[in-house]
Amino acid sequence: MNIPSFHLNGKVALVTGGSKGIGYGMAHALGHYGATLVISSRGREEGEYAVSQLKKEKIEASYLPCDVTKKDQVEALVGQIVEQHGSLDILVNNAGMNIRKPLPEVEESDWDTVLDVNLKGIFLAGQAAAKQMIKQKYGKIINISSILGSVGMPFQTSYAASKGGINQLTKVWADELAPYNITVNAIGPGYISTPMTKEWLSDPERSEKIINSTMIKRIGETSDLVGPVVFFASDTSKYVTGQVLNVDGGWTAR
Ligand code: NAP
Repeated sequence: MNIPSFHLNGKVALVTGGSKGIGYGMAHALGHYGATLVISSRGREEGEYAVSQLKKEKIEASYLPCDVTKKDQVEALVGQIVEQHGSLDILVNNAGMNIRKPLPEVEESDWDTVLDVNLKGIFLAGQAAAKQMIKQKYGKIINISSILGSVGMPFQTSYAASKGGINQLTKVWADELAPYNITVNAIGPGYISTPMTKEWLSDPERSEKIINSTMIKRIGETSDLVGPVVFFASDTSKYVTGQVLNVDGGWTAR
């Protein structure tokens, strides 16, 4: 039997929203396993700082700015990566945000903003990457969803709608792109401690409720996503596609 490897040597990976939080953690993991990394985000300063931190770990990384809601920027980003590195093998479609409000208070602009970044952004980056991966006849697309793609929770109207959409995109793309040797999977994190959740988790009562919703009885850390992202990015997952793996301390299994 040929044992497939977790190593990513020679692979070129793009992590959108890779400047901090979950994206940064996953970029670090892919780089650790040998991938050549490009991280992108809107804020150049944070992005370049992230690259400097990765380089300290002897990871080959560079930063390119890109707002995932802008088709021209996303296409230019993929074009630049291919020009500089010759291919795009792994896309971690991660850039995302949240606006939490009770339903009666959700503004039309809140809905548009969240859906634009979290769903249109995933579509645009996935489409641009897929065009290149189809030519290569190789690719790994990893969409970052959330447990809110599968379960309901108060104040998450726009966010949950966007993440449910991501889960569906994952299944459609998996079926469509399988003939080109491209796998498409999603990771659905539970609550992970990052800049995005810092304020939300700072309420002790809420935090305790969240911890008690998990079987493992803690908030997640970015390192909890290392195994899942490396698995989906490497050839160890070559017979796995169209799946949503919730990484949530057991929350959604209850
Ligand atoms: P975060 O710490 O706020 O980081 C978000 C990243 O996305 C940053 O790099 C940010 O950089 C980038 N970004 C935001 N809007 C963007 C845009 N329009 N174009 C390009 N980049 C953009 O968030 P996080 O907690 O790590 O979340 C990352 C992903 O995991 C999101 O998709 C989120 O929904 C998902 N997730 C998080 C949790 C959690 O508990 N933390 C749970 C489930 C799912 P700039 O602002 O500089 O662009």
